[in-house]
Amino acid sequence: MLNNQSISARKEVLLKLSKTVLPKLEKDGPIASYFESNVFNEKVMREMLPKDTYKKLRDTIRKGEKLDLTIANTVAHAMKEWALSKGVTHFTHWFQPQTGATAEKHDSFLEYDENHVLERFRGSQLVQGEPDASSFPSGGARTTFEARGYTMWDPSSPAFIVDGPSGGILCIPSVFISYTGEALDKKTPLLRSMESISNSAMKVLKMFGNNTAERVVTTIGTEQEYFLIDKAFYHLRPDLQITGRTMLGAKPPKGQQMDDHYFGSIKERVLAFMQDSERELYKLGVPAKTRHNEVAPHQYEVAPIFAEANVGSDRNQMIMEVLKKVANRHNLALLLHEKPFAGVNGSGKHNNWSMSDSDGNNLLDPGNTPEENLQFLVFLVATLMAVHKYGDLLRMSIASAGNDHRLGANEAPPAIISVFLGERLNRILDDIKENKPTAKADDYIIDLGISKLPSIMRDNTDRNRTSPFAFTGQKFEFRAIGSSASVSLANTVLCAAAADSIDILIADVEKEMKSIKDQSKAILQVLRKYIIETEPIRFEGNNYSEEWEKEAAKRGLPNIKRTAYALDAFMDPKNIEMLIRQGVYKENEIAGRYNTKVEQYITALEIEADTFINLINTSVLPSAITYQSQLLTVVKDMKAIGDAVPADALAVEVNMLKSVSEKISRLSAGVKIIEDILAEAGDIHEEPKKAKLIADKLVDALNETRVPADELEGIIPDDLWPLPKYSEMLFIM
Ligand code: ADP
Ligand code: MG
Repeated sequence: MLNNQSISARKEVLLKLSKTVLPKLEKDGPIASYFESNVFNEKVMREMLPKDTYKKLRDTIRKGEKLDLTIANTVAHAMKEWALSKGVTHFTHWFQPQTGATAEKHDSFLEYDENHVLERFRGSQLVQGEPDASSFPSGGARTTFEARGYTMWDPSSPAFIVDGPSGGILCIPSVFISYTGEALDKKTPLLRSMESISNSAMKVLKMFGNNTAERVVTTIGTEQEYFLIDKAFYHLRPDLQITGRTMLGAKPPKGQQMDDHYFGSIKERVLAFMQDSERELYKLGVPAKTRHNEVAPHQYEVAPIFAEANVGSDRNQMIMEVLKKVANRHNLALLLHEKPFAGVNGSGKHNNWSMSDSDGNNLLDPGNTPEENLQFLVFLVATLMAVHKYGDLLRMSIASAGNDHRLGANEAPPAIISVFLGERLNRILDDIKENKPTAKADDYIIDLGISKLPSIMRDNTDRNRTSPFAFTGQKFEFRAIGSSASVSLANTVLCAAAADSIDILIADVEKEMKSIKDQSKAILQVLRKYIIETEPIRFEGNNYSEEWEKEAAKRGLPNIKRTAYALDAFMDPKNIEMLIRQGVYKENEIAGRYNTKVEQYITALEIEADTFINLINTSVLPSAITYQSQLLTVVKDMKAIGDAVPADALAVEVNMLKSVSEKISRLSAGVKIIEDILAEAGDIHEEPKKAKLIADKLVDALNETRVPADELEGIIPDDLWPLPKYSEMLFIM
C-alpha cells in the first residue's frame, strides 16, 4: 500500500551505506618529501630563474612589493616550463570576488606562432589578466564607475597547481582591480590593511628603539569547522543542496552520541577523507596541522599552521575548495554552512590573529624584558581600543544570513563583541589603572623596578571558550567568523582598526612626553587612560549566558542579531572615516561593498523561502496528505462497522486524524504568511529597507512554519517520509 517512490530512495541509501568500501589511498612517504610539490616556491624559483631575476623576485616578495615589470617575461616563462613539466595545460588568475568563494577563468597556454601551435605564457599574462568583470558584482559601484577591471598577480602569495582529471591548472593568486583603480575583490583591502598596520606598528617599534625591523606582518591561523554527511543523503535534501542548510527536520533524540563524539576516535571513513584531503593540501603548501572531531556528530575541524594574513586567507580558501573536492571523491558531502542542522552545534572559523616584526618576533608575545613587556602592553591595549571603538564594524565583518543562525545560539559567541584577556592580564591592567604597584606575592609577577612595570609571563593556560575575541597566550582568537566566509574582510577590519588605535596611542604618548620626560611613564599614563576607556568590552564570564546579554546591554554594548542591521555599521561615518584614513578603502568602494552585502543577504533569504515553500508543497504536504487520507479511510471503515468498534478505539484514530489535519492547516497557513512577506518585500525597491523587512518578518516566519513540518515528521509513518532525517544524516555514515 505504501507504494511511494521516496520510500525506496531513502531506504536504498541506508542499504547502500552498509556496503560502503573505503577508497584505497596511495602512500606518499613523509610529508616533507612532497610538501609544496605543486607550488612555485622559492626553491623552484632559484632553480629555474637566472640569478639576478631570482634575487629581484625574492626581494619583491619579501618586501611585499609589486612585481618589477622588467622581469615579468622571464618569470612567466619559468613558471610555464615548471607547470608544463607537471602536466599543466591551463592557467588562471585566482582571486576572491566580493561574493562566492574564489573565481577563476581558465586559459590554455595555447598560441599560434606563424602556422604551428605552441605553448606560451607571457609576462603580461602573468601580471595582468582580464576576467569577465561584468559577471562579478561590485555593488552600487557599477553605477558610479565602469566596473570593468583586471586581475593582477599578488606575488606575495605563490602560484600553485590544482590537479585536474586530465592535466593541471596553474593558479596565479591575484587581486581584482577596476580600470579606474578601485578594488573589486576582498584581497586588495586586506593587503592595504596589512600595510597600514605595518606602518603604525613600526612607529611603536621605533619608539622602543628597534632599528632592525623593516616591517610588521599580520599573521593568521584559521581553524576551519565543517560537517560531513553521506552524499546520497545530500542528494535527497534539496534544501541542503540549494541553501546549504536543512530548512526543516525534527531534532534527533536528545543525548544521542552528542557528547562522546568530540573525544571519540575519528571514524575510518572520515579519516580516509581527512588523509586524502591533507595530502592534496600538502602538495599545495597548505600546512594542515591539526584534525579532530568537533562537538556535534559528523562535525570536524582542520587547522593549518599560521601564515601571513594574505597567504593565510588564500590558504583558507584552498582548504574549503580542497575539502569540497575530496569529499565528493569519497561520496561525502561537505557542509560549510554555519548552521546546517537547527538545534545542533553550528560551524565557525576561529581566526587566530597576531603581528610579527620582520625579524620574526611575535608582537603579541609578552617577551622577556621589561621593555618588551611594555611594548606588548601597547599592542594589547591598542587591540582593546580597536575592538572597543569598532566592535560594530567587526560585527559587520562577520555578518551573513548563515552566521545569524549561529551567533548567540548557545554554542557560538553572541553578536556582542567583547574581549577575554584571562585573569593575569586582567589583574595587570587593573593594577595599571589603579596606579598600584603589582603585588609581589604573586608568583607570576616580579617587580622590575621601572615605573611600576609588571613582568608578564606568557600564559597559555587560561581559557574561555565562549568569548568572541579571546587572548590566547600570544595571539587573539576572533571566533565569530562564519565557517563558509572568506576571512579577508574580518582581518581587514581588524588590522585597520588596530592600526588606527596604535596611531592614536602613539600621538598621545608624544603629547604626554612634552610634560613627562620618562618615556615608560608617559606610555603607562596613556595606557591607563585607554584601559579605563575600554573597560566595558572586557568580559571574563560565560558569553553564552543570558546574564551576559543583560549585563552587556547595561554597558551599552550593541547586540545586533540580524545581518540586515549589522551591515549598517559599514556606512557609519565614524567607520568610513577610519577605513579611509587608514587607506584601506576608497569612499566609493565602501558603498559598493555595502550594497553587495545587502543584496547577498536578500538573495540568500529569498532563495531560502522559495526552497522552503517548494519543499513543503512537493514533499511534506503530499506525504502528510497521504497519511491523512489513510487515517480517514480507517476512521470511515471503523465507523461503518458501527458498534463493533469500541468508542475509545475509534477516538485514538480520530485524534490521530485531527492532529495530522491540524498540522497540515498550520503548515499551509505558514506558507501563506511567507508568500505574503515575499510579496511585500517585492514591492520595496530600496534594498536596505527590503533587507530589514526580511530580517524582521521572513526569518521568523521561516522558523515558525518549520515547527508544524517538524511535528509532522514525528508522526508520519517512516515509510511515507521522503526526506532523510537528522537521526540518519548525523548518525549514519
Ligand atoms: P590553541 O590551542 O590556542 O587554539 P593552537 O596552537 O592549536 O592553539 O593554534 C591554533 C591556531 O593558531 C593554529 O592555526 C596556529 O597556527 C595559530 N597560531 C599560533 N600562533 C599564531 C600567531 N602568532 N599568529 C597567528 N596565528 C597563530
Ligand atoms: Mg584555538
